[in-house]
Amino acid sequence: MQTNWKIGSLFGIPLFLDPLWFVILGLAILNFGVAYQEWGTFTAWSAAVVMALLLFASVLLHELGHSLVAQSQGIKVNSITLFLFGGIAAIEEESKTPGKAFQVAIAGPAVSIILFLLLRFGANVVPESSPVSVMVGDLARINLVVALFNLIPGLPLDGGQVLKAALWKATGDRFQAVHLAAKAGQILGYGAIALGFALDFLTKELVFGLWIVLLGWFGVRNAKSYDQVTTLQETLLQLVASDSMTRDFRVIDAHQTLRDFADLYLLDTTSPQIYFAASDGRYRGMVSPDDLRTIPRSEWETQTLHTIVHPLTTIPTITESTSLAEVINKLEKEQLPRITVLSPAGAVAGVIDRGDIVRLLAQKLNLQITEVEIKRIKEEGNYPPGLQLGVIAKSTIN
Ligand SMILES: [Zn+2]
Repeated sequence: MQTNWKIGSLFGIPLFLDPLWFVILGLAILNFGVAYQEWGTFTAWSAAVVMALLLFASVLLHELGHSLVAQSQGIKVNSITLFLFGGIAAIEEESKTPGKAFQVAIAGPAVSIILFLLLRFGANVVPESSPVSVMVGDLARINLVVALFNLIPGLPLDGGQVLKAALWKATGDRFQAVHLAAKAGQILGYGAIALGFALDFLTKELVFGLWIVLLGWFGVRNAKSYDQVTTLQETLLQLVASDSMTRDFRVIDAHQTLRDFADLYLLDTTSPQIYFAASDGRYRGMVSPDDLRTIPRSEWETQTLHTIVHPLTTIPTITESTSLAEVINKLEKEQLPRITVLSPAGAVAGVIDRGDIVRLLAQKLNLQITEVEIKRIKEEGNYPPGLQLGVIAKSTIN
């Protein structure tokens, strides 16, 4: 994503170009330029450039169709990117109902079909077999192909999203629906790869065959990632805070003086240093070494931890049975390094940070994440690039 160029924004949605998109642009210019040669070299290539840009506009309008319907449902659209295989609208979360998910999915192909019909009609109005009429006719066909191709019923295509919405409606289980639509996408993707190779071996359509192989490969890869994200979402709902929490904190006597606490803190080599103060068998709250600075040193001998303790009711807490999805969401929303888990009796049961969450998920889902990486996550407080749990948790709770 970092290598994409931002070329502007529409309706508040940033617009990006993947450098590989210029491959499409080049191929389109070449294709139309050759096809229009009878109009003379200059006219042919000029018309080809115009057609390539109109192809760009067609794909953009298709993606805007998805995006604007999503926005009308109150869903944020993070970006629209044009890349090697067309366009992609990065829609932040799932629609609330299967019906609404269907509307977002069908909006893109609907735009393409409407463009096809308008252009088809337009081609009849302009003088027959003039360059403009040919170009409008070609653009109409392109939009029809964009619509029909996208309606192939497997994720990541729009048809797959439609299938997902239908299965979601029928079964009431969104996750199961995504798994099935992703499975369909994988089967179709492998089918495309086989078809592409068959074209390569049986016909002279080498470039076209390879193109189909590439499309199929892209489809399989994306369908798998839909499947994985869904498995992750299910896991985040099944696991709870007590599965992931650690007891990496110290309980200290709330009656001790700030001087004693300072000495203890300076000698304590455990990391991270998390302290809870208790007295008379009750947790009084969390103690942060930073708060020592707010009290003049001259008073450290006389003041106790009671002066600086943050009562449990004032710090961010969750219960042991809070789902992991909600834990992640709360950490992100309130920008916390960690959160305290309370037992039903109101005692401190444990603490959770991002490293603890990743460690548990790695163990449950067999992800290859080393202890070194987990230590880094614990220290730096951000998730690995390939595991954007903040975004995934947000779309899970929905
Ligand atoms: Zn689409």
